[in-house]
Amino acid sequence: MRKRCLIALFLFLALAALPLYSEQHFQVVVMGSGGGPMENNLSGYLIAQAGSNEFISLDAGTLLAGITRAEQETGFGAIPTSAPSPYLPQAQILRDRIKAYLISHAHLDHVAGLVINSTLDTNKPIFGIPDTIDNLRDHLFNWKIWPNFGSEGKKPYLNKYSYQRMKPGQRVPIPGTAMTVEAFPLSHPDQYLSTAFLIESSDSYVLYLGDTAPDVLSPKKRLSKVWQRVAPLIRQKKVQAIFIECSYTDAQNKNQLLGHLDPQFLMQELDHLACEVNSDSSQTSLAGLKVLVTHIKESLLKNSTARELIEQELTSQNDLGIDFIFPHQGQKIEL
Ligand SMILES: [Zn+2]
Ligand SMILES: [Zn+2]
Repeated sequence: MRKRCLIALFLFLALAALPLYSEQHFQVVVMGSGGGPMENNLSGYLIAQAGSNEFISLDAGTLLAGITRAEQETGFGAIPTSAPSPYLPQAQILRDRIKAYLISHAHLDHVAGLVINSTLDTNKPIFGIPDTIDNLRDHLFNWKIWPNFGSEGKKPYLNKYSYQRMKPGQRVPIPGTAMTVEAFPLSHPDQYLSTAFLIESSDSYVLYLGDTAPDVLSPKKRLSKVWQRVAPLIRQKKVQAIFIECSYTDAQNKNQLLGHLDPQFLMQELDHLACEVNSDSSQTSLAGLKVLVTHIKESLLKNSTARELIEQELTSQNDLGIDFIFPHQGQKIEL
């Protein structure tokens, strides 16, 4: 009898623990995971609802090189279509599977793929905060740096990309997908805005942060506003993952981070988030939360890679039980 009770208790506990992060909600294909200087592996992540072919691109530093790598690595193939396509599979993915771009800011390592691939691309929206859209319009798609494929600016007759200006904190649907998105400005550093995107699908969430300075180095505490927004969702176990940058190792001079995070600042920010999550309950924490570490700037030194060092530094400082993931180009990640 006692044994049966123990088995029942064990089953109850196992089932109670299951819904936390066991179900698949999103699929991610990594186009590029670095933050430079390798020009073929810059920030870009395709994300779709689990089981769907309708992706959006979170930043677009690298696209075709990432699609090609993903095809070799995971067989990420073309959409089956009723009519035969004249295009190679990687071109079909670019043209047909990516429904929209969400651009965190207009620095080249986040838009180079979008610009270079634009001649092959099809009509679709680009979402961003007004600063980002204005920069794309005025400084990239302006007939000087590149032909104007945008819907605004100088002679916009090509009109391939329709600019969608996002109001911070306002959730909008992403056309062609079942996802919605909310934007939050980030300091990169304070006077130059980057963006965090909160992606939602069927009441599950992924938070993607573009480049960001830590709040402690910023007069405007923009990250804390993001943590306040997602804390209740984390408490309800609705956030499947957070993508956040860690550009440099802890050896980088704190005054030369140029609006980026290092492992110490990243852990400090995750501590701030943990405090928000734990504010009205001592039972919850960030243990088991998936955090994808993005935008590592390779040092190209002979004896060590920045990626290895950052992995070691974060692992040794990880007293929150975070599930750190270090994505690589071409990888498929289920969230
Ligand atoms: Zn940047
Ligand atoms: Zn960057």
